Amino acid sequence: MSEINYPKPDGIITFDRLSSVYLTNTSHRENQPNHLKLKNKDTAIEVNYDVYRSPEVRYCPAGVYEIIEDSLSGNNRLQINSQNCIHCKTCDIKDPTQNIKWCPPEGESGPNYSRM
Ligand code: SF4
Repeated sequence: MSEINYPKPDGIITFDRLSSVYLTNTSHRENQPNHLKLKNKDTAIEVNYDVYRSPEVRYCPAGVYEIIEDSLSGNNRLQINSQNCIHCKTCDIKDPTQNIKWCPPEGESGPNYSRM
């Protein structure tokens, strides 16, 4: 299957991921507990990656999920950069096996849209 080449964001109608995440004004305490949990860690690779090529890497608007290849073993693992989450809750709904459990962030953390 060939990769789709989308046009670059024009800054008028379409925007790059980083500046869109910046607009959410999201903040978290540096060492707050991870609010994104996997019900089964093995499913992230054995089903999500092996069958679907980890759709969470593509649908998450904040780039929270990454597939990292272990340089020693050559095995893949799912890395969750929960501090980047903008709490859209897409992963909680869209995960093919409902393996990702989104929990509300600690009080007063999360997105803070200044113009809403
Ligand atoms: S709720 Fe899930 S999909 Fe949305 S930004 Fe956070 S990790 Fe990404």
